[in-house]
Amino acid sequence: MTLAVDQLSLGAIATNCYIVRLNDDADEAVVVDPGANAVGIQLALDRVGASCVAILLTHSHYDHIGALAELAEATGAPVWLPEGELDVVRRPNDFFGALGVSIRGYEGASTLLAGAETIEAAGIVFAVTPVPGHSPGHLAYYADGCLFSGDVLFAGSVGRTDLPFGSWEQLLESIRALADSYPPETRVYSGHGPPTTLGQELASNPFLAELRA
Ligand SMILES: [Zn+2]
Repeated sequence: MTLAVDQLSLGAIATNCYIVRLNDDADEAVVVDPGANAVGIQLALDRVGASCVAILLTHSHYDHIGALAELAEATGAPVWLPEGELDVVRRPNDFFGALGVSIRGYEGASTLLAGAETIEAAGIVFAVTPVPGHSPGHLAYYADGCLFSGDVLFAGSVGRTDLPFGSWEQLLESIRALADSYPPETRVYSGHGPPTTLGQELASNPFLAELRA
């Protein structure tokens, strides 16, 4: 089984949104992190011939949730999000307004995740893992050799921890736990930049030298 993963780079800081299907023929898709441009996401869904049957959030930073309300309303898809970050999802401008950000909060129904759950959508079974550090409720989603890591781990970098509620120690522990849980060939689909693998980052990511010690 090989998931079909389409990557969209959206918004002012090129945040990755993923359209994930069980395979290339599947007509149902999960959308991970609809960060901006709901219309563009729907055009991409049309292009692959799939409808959105679930929306997953890795965390609540504005660049990952900017199109959530619009996409959820347009598709009627259920929303799964980190339980620790619901307030931010509902009232993002209270948290990010000082950055000049103005986006719509999402007040609709959602299923709250703490991590350690297993969820199924579009025929895909995702293992949910808590990965705090970049943001306190941050989650990663793993399915079929693919890890949707949000802003925890990037190709050659890691998520910043200087934002409110960030913690470098927690971030490093989260990445260590991912490395202990999943094989090196695990494909990492990050919140920014190109895909990589866990093994590649553990071997050469300059921020992870402590994990190699
Ligand atoms: Zn972030």
